[in-house]
Amino acid sequence: MLRVKCVLCEKIESLNSDTPEAKKLRNRPIHTYMCDSCRERIGKKTEERKAGGQFHMRRPHSEEEKDPYI
Ligand SMILES: [Zn+2]
Repeated sequence: MLRVKCVLCEKIESLNSDTPEAKKLRNRPIHTYMCDSCRERIGKKTEERKAGGQFHMRRPHSEEEKDPYI
């Protein structure tokens, strides 16, 4: 098992280390993990922004807050 902490709500979860997600996390810093409910929340936000036509997939994350349209 792989223990991971959600970056948003800090919930600790255990992943089966055979899952594709766990394998992915092994190659990345552990703090990139997001639990299902947070991911769903973020996913919804992303969908809303896409729907508003102001979401740019290629925009670096750090640039988002500077966007005058948000
Ligand atoms: Zn979470």
